Amino acid sequence: MKPLSAHSILEAQLYVMLQVCPKCDTDPLEVAERSTEEHHIDDIIRLDCACPECGEKADYRFRIDSRRAAASEPPLINPTDEPSKLIDVGQWLTLYHILIARSKEASDRTASRGEAYQAALCIAEALKFYEPDNDLPPASAFFSDQAREQARTHPAFFARDKLLSLQTGLPDLRATQAVTNAKSSRKWWKFWQKPHSGADPAGPDSV
Ligand SMILES: [Zn+2]
Repeated sequence: MKPLSAHSILEAQLYVMLQVCPKCDTDPLEVAERSTEEHHIDDIIRLDCACPECGEKADYRFRIDSRRAAASEPPLINPTDEPSKLIDVGQWLTLYHILIARSKEASDRTASRGEAYQAALCIAEALKFYEPDNDLPPASAFFSDQAREQARTHPAFFARDKLLSLQTGLPDLRATQAVTNAKSSRKWWKFWQKPHSGADPAGPDSV
């Protein structure tokens, strides 16, 4: 299969979070630890995934079309103003809700902040689909008939002001990117490499 086009490894990982297990069709897939480090050849990465419920394996290949995102720490989803070709506006909002839920359930402040930071990035990505004078995203912002139908029946969910209000209280992206967490040995934004339960051996980090 042709690799999918992504702006960054992070965008590819978020895409995988939206995919359900092909076998049991319920749980989202999880990316195996160290998957990106081991399978990054030229601009193509392969993400090895597994279903946390039944163990079914799947892998996805992506062509990463921006080197700027990889060079940034904490990483960016997409350093360009171009909307995603991989994740549509509704899926960015779904990711926002998944990440906010994880942020609230996180076992320590470091993990919680990492999830909230990702949630803020997702809202920023959703807003890239909006045209300057429109309060609602254009039809091209939805990648499936199902998504377009959802937008038609629930327009308030996609109102620009609604998205802007979701950003309130989330980490400020510019400030977060300026202050990288040099003191912590664990990179708090690598949320996909941490279990979501159990004790953190390093203890809660102060933020
Ligand atoms: Zn499964």
